[in-house]
Amino acid sequence: MQPTEQRIRQYAKFVSDEVFGFAKAEYGFDESLQMILEIKMVPRLDGGRSCGGRTQHGARSDELKPYMSLNFNRVMCGNWSLRNEYDHVATDEEIGHRHCLSWEEYVLTTICHEVAHVIEFSAPIYGVTINPEFTRWGHLNKNPDDHGAKWQTIYRFLRNHFVNYADELLNFPEAEEEEYGEVIGRVRINHGFAGSLFMKGEFDLVQEFKPTPEAILNHEKFGLPLNVGFLRVLTSDGVKKIEVKQRDYQLI
Ligand SMILES: [Zn+2]
Repeated sequence: MQPTEQRIRQYAKFVSDEVFGFAKAEYGFDESLQMILEIKMVPRLDGGRSCGGRTQHGARSDELKPYMSLNFNRVMCGNWSLRNEYDHVATDEEIGHRHCLSWEEYVLTTICHEVAHVIEFSAPIYGVTINPEFTRWGHLNKNPDDHGAKWQTIYRFLRNHFVNYADELLNFPEAEEEEYGEVIGRVRINHGFAGSLFMKGEFDLVQEFKPTPEAILNHEKFGLPLNVGFLRVLTSDGVKKIEVKQRDYQLI
């Protein structure tokens, strides 16, 4: 099902706040630091670009603020299965092209990319030392040459934290027969969901995923992804089971 514009905006706002909040703390920015965020759905031939950096805060002010502009027209059009990166990092296992299993994963990955720019570009303004040699003063970052070592380091950190870790779910150990039955397939669960669990810090480890019988049936019949089922997660005081529905999440 295609997400509505409202749903994309809601999710993008939520994820932007979470990723920026996390990065801000990690890189030593003041917690009160605000980011100007624009979320667009502007149709363009290239599918629409997003960008991150810093911008002037109002016409009469020369104060620069962290700024991120997201364009998710291609998500609206259902074109979210491949998140492209620039050539020089395209084959990097951690920060390269990403095949997405959900539109949320595409949005989350894009936001990690752009927040990495925001953090890098904002550092000189706020006296945080991430990129001391960086002197560019501008609104946006559109030049592929700007995707240098510092940006890559920040992006790698955010990608690993919010996106890539879920790949390990593809390699979870064989489930115990009596508890889970036969393991039907390796799955990646919805990244937006898993990401939000981790971000809230409610769980220590997302461990195993068991598709529901209905999901297995759909998988066999229609080849649909098995991202509907039960997720077993570990907490410090024991195991909790969570029901994961496709784009409809509920704790049980
Ligand atoms: Zn970029």
